[in-house]
Amino acid sequence: MIERTLVLLKPDAVSRGLMGRIIQRFEDAGLKIVGAKMVWIDKEFAKKHYFDVAERRGEKVLAALLNMITEGPVLAMVIEGVFAVEVVRKIVGGTEPKTAVPGTIRGDFAHHSYAYTDSKGIAIKNLVHASGKKEEADYEIKLWFKDNELHSYKTVHEIHTY
Ligand code: ADP
Ligand code: MG
Repeated sequence: MIERTLVLLKPDAVSRGLMGRIIQRFEDAGLKIVGAKMVWIDKEFAKKHYFDVAERRGEKVLAALLNMITEGPVLAMVIEGVFAVEVVRKIVGGTEPKTAVPGTIRGDFAHHSYAYTDSKGIAIKNLVHASGKKEEADYEIKLWFKDNELHSYKTVHEIHTY
């Protein structure tokens, strides 16, 4: 039941100075950061990360997304916890900030809609990427992190909540 999931603080989160406040939300829930690094990826790497977006969302969205994710550095993290994949997605919220519920990262720190970004031909800036399911997480963690960049240690939450 203990899972690991990949989280990216996208270039909009980094440039808006929201890294600390976003990380706080994961730490507050008792989740453990077991890997973290800042990386400025190129489009070739971004295509490997978003390999299924063209078929799910279309070529136009993929092209806009590749521009957005490479416009500045991202903070990549691996987060561990009980059912971490599902719990992190809950904390992150829905893809579209307009409809993401209040209390979620995307609902609280952004408000743009698909209609607005589609009219501009840009990707929706929703601050965070989080793996959608366990198999996705396994693939993405391997893509972004070497084994020796991931760490095992105990947090106080493990004493009180596990
Ligand atoms: P999520 O990040 O919630 O898992 P997807 O994997 O479907 O969502 O899409 C990847 C990213 O592509 C989204 O987080 C968002 O930044 C962007 N995106 C998805 N759909 C659209 C769209 N219709 N218009 C603009 N950008 C989009
Ligand atoms: Mg996704």
